[in-house]
Amino acid sequence: MFGQMMHRPLMISSLIDHAAQYHGDTQIISKEVSGEFTTTSWGKVAQNSKRLANALSRYNLQLGDRLATIAWNNYRHLETWYAVSCSGYVCHTINPRLFPEQLVFIINDAKDKALFFDVTFLPLIVAIKDKVPTVEKFICLSGKDEKVLAALPDVLFYDDLVASESDQFEWPELDENTASSLCYTSGTTGNPKGVLYSHRSTMLHAFGIAVPDSLNLSAKDVVLPVVPMFHVNAWGIPYATAMTGSSLVLPGPNLDGDSLVSLIDDYKVTVALGVPTIWQGLLAAAAKRDTTLESMNRNVVGGAACPPAILKTFKDKYHCETIHAWGMTETSPLGTANQTKAKHADLPEVELEKLRLSQGRPVFGVEIRVVDPDANNQVLPNDGHSQGNLHIRGHWIVSEYFNKGESALTEDGWFDTGDVATIDPDGFLVIRDRSKDLIKSGGEWISSVELEGIAMSHPEIRMAAAIAAKHPKWDERPVLVAIKEEGSNIDEEAIKAYYQGKIADWQIPDRVIFVDAIPINGTGKMVKSELRDQFGDVLLTA
Ligand code: AMP
Repeated sequence: MFGQMMHRPLMISSLIDHAAQYHGDTQIISKEVSGEFTTTSWGKVAQNSKRLANALSRYNLQLGDRLATIAWNNYRHLETWYAVSCSGYVCHTINPRLFPEQLVFIINDAKDKALFFDVTFLPLIVAIKDKVPTVEKFICLSGKDEKVLAALPDVLFYDDLVASESDQFEWPELDENTASSLCYTSGTTGNPKGVLYSHRSTMLHAFGIAVPDSLNLSAKDVVLPVVPMFHVNAWGIPYATAMTGSSLVLPGPNLDGDSLVSLIDDYKVTVALGVPTIWQGLLAAAAKRDTTLESMNRNVVGGAACPPAILKTFKDKYHCETIHAWGMTETSPLGTANQTKAKHADLPEVELEKLRLSQGRPVFGVEIRVVDPDANNQVLPNDGHSQGNLHIRGHWIVSEYFNKGESALTEDGWFDTGDVATIDPDGFLVIRDRSKDLIKSGGEWISSVELEGIAMSHPEIRMAAAIAAKHPKWDERPVLVAIKEEGSNIDEEAIKAYYQGKIADWQIPDRVIFVDAIPINGTGKMVKSELRDQFGDVLLTA
């Protein structure tokens, strides 16, 4: 050997230590379930997580034990995250919007030893507590509360736990491949599956999302993760912001447009992140108020395709740059982010808009490819039009689901995302659809995402889902299920006419059905399987 560099394991504890040491006074604003606000800081979050770590060390826990949370984005939840993972346990974030049976399944599958919960979820905890035998401790994320005590006599209160403990704690130095957190897929088909992240994968993902051509996070930012901490670790924001020393605004339970506009304006948020339905609500609320969302210079849209209208309104009306990003639970989640290159500076407006609507290009650390499933997964060219199944591999991509004991990968080591996509020579990815949502009309594929994007660019359409309906001649034809804007009288023919010239005539939906609501799942995505059950036969009976 001629020389060597230090080897330091990539540990999540180094993130909170860094934030405490160099950004100790950087503010963290937290909206509590009571509606009150708490102002804390990275320094105090680090201290409390060490207090909680001391409390946890008194319980009979082993390295790798799972401790669950059912909580909103707030400071106690953040402290719990760091205390649990940095102590060597696994922080299992649970989506409270799942059906109770799914919650019970997930907790039992993970064999959670403890459950931290926000007061909001007390009825849920009471309903499931006898069905989750592995859970030894229920910890309410609040001060002492008689109502909670009456319903759950053995409950512990977070504030009591940390109050009596020292803020001195040596984080253990572990192998960087030690598991740190666990998140289950939304399980729209079959039981949810657990994805187990490691300290190393989480750290590398945090680097990946912070760099300029990704989400571009820095100590100058005030970051509002609207995306919940139970939705793929709030897309990694609580880790990456500790790395960059950004200020955080944690929105608690109120994710309606009005509450978010207030948070952005009151706390001068520079960047916010959420799924498209969040932005639709926020834009509707902002339009009714006298706000220019002045502090916000970018917003990140992911989790589902970004409707063109969102991008355009943010840009034209609020001078805010939308970063469209793609990912999934199995990918930590970030796979691609939309940032242009120097060579795009002079691109004509129409082409630039089209490029900006794509899901973006891979951040360093992951690779993507599209393959032809009908030709033995033959790799297709990155030419912008060859459409195939999207595969991904990289430092923060799942290789085996929790407790499944078998590889989740193809024989040559890639993860099949279940998405259908194209990739251009620069790596810009366009998600055409989930493979199960594609509409196959007379042997030709129609992208439901594209049909929805066009419908939602109509000023009188609030939300739209395109589904495959069974057809006697073409097998499947597109049907659009849409919600009108308040007070609109638009009719089916007008929407069909609106499609003309924007796509080929044969791709225009056969029917447009107006509804008052479209089912949304726990992570804010449209549940098209329910719409297919409801409207899948409309063309057979016509
Ligand atoms: P989940 O694991 O629940 O976050 O769901 C992941 C899935 O959401 C992906 O496989 C995609 O189908 C979809 N998805 C995520 N981000 C986007 C996006 N920007 N555009 C289109 N679909 C997306």
